[in-house]
Amino acid sequence: MQAKTIPIKVAETPQQEAGACHAGEKTLLESAQAAGKSEILQRYALDYPKGPHDQPQSMCPAFGSLRVGLRMSRTATILSGSACCVYGLTFTSHFYGARRSVGYVPFNSETLVTGKLFEDIRESVHAQADPEKYDAIVIINLCVPTASGVPLQLLPKEINGVRIIGIDVPGFGVPTHAEAKDVLAGAMLKYARQEVMSGPVQAPNKTRQDHPTITLLGEMFPADPMGIAQMIAPMNLAVGSSVPTREWRELYAALDCAVVAAIHPFYTASIREFQAAGRPIVGSAPVGVEGAHDWLQNIGQSAGVSQSLIDEARNKSLAMIKAVLAQQKIKGRITLSGYEGSELIVARLLVECGADLRYVGSACPATPWNSHDAEWLKSKGVQVQFRASLEQDLDAVQDFRPDLAIGTTPVVQYAKEACIPSLYFTNLISARPLMGVAGAGSLIQVVNAAIGNQSRFNKMKDFFGPVGHGDTSGVWMEEPVERPEFRAENRRQLEKKIKQRKAQEMG
Ligand code: SF4
Repeated sequence: MQAKTIPIKVAETPQQEAGACHAGEKTLLESAQAAGKSEILQRYALDYPKGPHDQPQSMCPAFGSLRVGLRMSRTATILSGSACCVYGLTFTSHFYGARRSVGYVPFNSETLVTGKLFEDIRESVHAQADPEKYDAIVIINLCVPTASGVPLQLLPKEINGVRIIGIDVPGFGVPTHAEAKDVLAGAMLKYARQEVMSGPVQAPNKTRQDHPTITLLGEMFPADPMGIAQMIAPMNLAVGSSVPTREWRELYAALDCAVVAAIHPFYTASIREFQAAGRPIVGSAPVGVEGAHDWLQNIGQSAGVSQSLIDEARNKSLAMIKAVLAQQKIKGRITLSGYEGSELIVARLLVECGADLRYVGSACPATPWNSHDAEWLKSKGVQVQFRASLEQDLDAVQDFRPDLAIGTTPVVQYAKEACIPSLYFTNLISARPLMGVAGAGSLIQVVNAAIGNQSRFNKMKDFFGPVGHGDTSGVWMEEPVERPEFRAENRRQLEKKIKQRKAQEMG
């Protein structure tokens, strides 16, 4: 019998298999548009505008959505994506203490391009939809299934009373993991709002507050909502839910508020849902004296509180914050960068605590809800960079030679090498109280302690000298011998190859 070649259909582009992190953002975007995802990608382009840089450097954006799903009780989260992406995402979620299983629907080129993957997803969702265990099931399309147009929007909205929420969270459409939290939080709020509009819903688990509530937008240190509750109590207001919520019923409570405080300013899709529910939004946060002064005024006014009660709340809180700031100050020059989206409120607090802050870079974009903070910081001479790239953050450290660099892992590593004390933004700054009196006291302590480490850095630098730099890093039995002639030869060969290729292209 004559042998014949059977054509095997593979993913449209090699980049689809290679992954969007490293290659082909443009190609993936085009594939996704061609595969029917234009509408959602246009929505993302409006909600999470890119530029001046195409893609800020941070972890896989889908981690944000995954984390929001995993932190909700009675919610199953399923990933659909390349195995390597899923491995990285599950690793990171367990590193951050998820203590929950992450579901996964695997695929290969064939199931991807023949549409079988969608059938597999549908099957697994049906198998999981047990109302005894779950209120909701979240399915997240990662880069490759989004680029291939896997149509999660065709999944049933509900199976056996379990809500089904399918979202696309591609790295080429959602720039940061912070904004990916909004993708899921916004989708859940939309679902919950439609439920509220179509009839009575379950009462929230917590007892209903006697006073009108403020919904807090953004993940924050657990003590912060309590601190804010104390600050707004004189206005007869209470803190309601925090979004992203920890359970489904809290979504109804979040929508049932007097005002939404966009403490983290990048929750664009969530804000759209609150606005559709007729809720006023207030940006910024009660950080430092001026921050708390403005924020309490805006919250009180939006909630229809009388000026005398607003003044009472302000007098109480501001007196306490002033007392802390009178006792201690931050002394030193600082640069700050991060990708959590709360960088500007931390920057404000640093300035109010006395820091000579020169630069704040955020991987998140400018929005109406952080414009006031940005203007305030600029008026204090601070350079504000939205959608900051790693290069801009590193340049700031180099140019301003701070006494302390607060930043992401590569910024901190760079500062340490340059003998500059540094603190990780995510683990050491955004994971502590920032609001009101507790925030001021806590930040001053940690920052001054870090700046005080300069002498230890100097000692280490003296002790180790140039060891560990360039070719001398690693363990050697003998001192490495420089071979510049080898490098020159390699360079010559490479240049020759390039010339040959160019000549071939032209010829
Ligand atoms: S899903 Fe995340 S890890 Fe995978 S290719 Fe996309 S951005 Fe990269």
